[in-house]
Amino acid sequence: MTKHIFVTGGVVSSLGKGLTCASIGMLLESRGLRVRMQKLDPYLNILPGILSPFQHGEVYVLDDGSETDLDLGHYERFTSDRLTRNSSWTTGLLYQEMGEKERAGEYNGVTIQVIPHVTSIIKEKVANLDRDDVDVVITEIGGTVGDMESLPHMEAIRQFANDVGKQNCLFIHLTLIPYLKAARELKTKPTQHSVGRLLSIGIQPDIIVCRTEQPIPAEERAKIALFCNVPKECVVEEPDADFSIYEVPMTLHANKMDEIVVSRLGLSNAGEPNLTAWRDMLDRMHHPEREVTIAVVGRYADHKDAYKSVYEALDHAGTVNRAQVRVRRIDSENVVRQETRQILENVDGIIVPGGFGERTVSGTVEAIQIAREKGIPFFGVALGIQSAMIEYGRNVLGLNDADSTEYDRTCENPIFRLLQDDKDPEDGVRRGSRKVSLAAGSKAEKIYGCRQIEERHRHRYEFDFEYQKKFEEGGAVLSGLAESGKHLEVMELPNHPWFVAVAYHPEFKSQPTKPHPLFADFVAAAVEHRG
Ligand code: GLN
Repeated sequence: MTKHIFVTGGVVSSLGKGLTCASIGMLLESRGLRVRMQKLDPYLNILPGILSPFQHGEVYVLDDGSETDLDLGHYERFTSDRLTRNSSWTTGLLYQEMGEKERAGEYNGVTIQVIPHVTSIIKEKVANLDRDDVDVVITEIGGTVGDMESLPHMEAIRQFANDVGKQNCLFIHLTLIPYLKAARELKTKPTQHSVGRLLSIGIQPDIIVCRTEQPIPAEERAKIALFCNVPKECVVEEPDADFSIYEVPMTLHANKMDEIVVSRLGLSNAGEPNLTAWRDMLDRMHHPEREVTIAVVGRYADHKDAYKSVYEALDHAGTVNRAQVRVRRIDSENVVRQETRQILENVDGIIVPGGFGERTVSGTVEAIQIAREKGIPFFGVALGIQSAMIEYGRNVLGLNDADSTEYDRTCENPIFRLLQDDKDPEDGVRRGSRKVSLAAGSKAEKIYGCRQIEERHRHRYEFDFEYQKKFEEGGAVLSGLAESGKHLEVMELPNHPWFVAVAYHPEFKSQPTKPHPLFADFVAAAVEHRG
């Protein structure tokens, strides 16, 4: 029987519920359990793909092409679970599905209500992840207890536990224990209130995870246990992870989180935790032997989460190179400024990550010119391959006005344009995991160590092979093609220390203990550049 863990948040938002869920998932996997992760988001949007990166951070893309919240990125980085669209539901999507059901006559003309209809569909989505090959489903409920939007979710998970038996479910509540500097005290009252709210909905949390800046003294812990009606050992401390988010599972483990979960859920097939690889990774992270600076040039650079997976992949790559990767986030619109150009000339590597729109592209083209001319390692991701080829077309091949029709429809040399085949028929986007073949003898083949790879995509504009000859004669190697042979996937410059651009998003497949080969090799090149 699949067991269920529901994670709710209290007091304030942004407590890192996604990270806590991912860490619990990782710890359970380390004990040999098979885990499935899921997020239920109370907001009403139905297209996470068009949420502004300034508001929501990056759009994380799954193998099946679904565009999801960045917390799913944490899940996939911390566990080996490969997620599908079944793991990401906004209330908007649930309502949409209900509308379709109504149209199909499935409600038989009854009045459709939050209880039982919305709650039922939420329960369906949770139950849908019950499989023979899954021991534990971890469901994160977005938002904070007390939000109007998440009330139906709370009611649904309460009912769910009733339906499948309380012994098969565990409620974990993540809360904040603020420290009042003036009083030099940790305050438990907000937690008491938030648990009170949960109780009024009929949910008794089993474990209280306390986010805190300061260690929680025994008497405060006892107070939380008493007021929240849980045993003392079920008040688990989660201090701020100052150094790295990858510390979180280790602190939770030290505070017996996995032991408590295993015993409370009666997971008799759980083994002893094997955390060796994770510990090794953290050890390398803690003891870097060198430092490199990588500039990430994009329009959303000011938002710390907009290129989340790129930053994480750089950290992962740092650990295998025993290097501390310092990231300089550079707004592409600032590249015109002399001081920004100077910064770029002095970094050890430049990345142009994914992006959309004219305002993004021009600065990235200028940054790439610096990387190419100064021999600075350059890595182009998604939009990065377009910018790299536009730059090469304009400045090396003499293709006047080379551009993508995304940015200039009337340009003289549209080297990137829309191709309709192999795309989502609705919006023309090429999404999700696709096979890519790498050319024999190419740098890409050497880095991956094989010629057939699969990577995640999310783009619309494609290189026009009319220009292939020009680029090849001009020294570029078009080293990766889609399985169909119709789309360019990788471009590299062999007469440069490290210049690789890809049409896909390798950052979504990098994990801390298994860094993506392209990121690992790029950081190695940056280390070499630094000398
Ligand atoms: N804007 C480009 C396109 O749609 C690149 C997209 C991306 O960076 N993911 O093709």
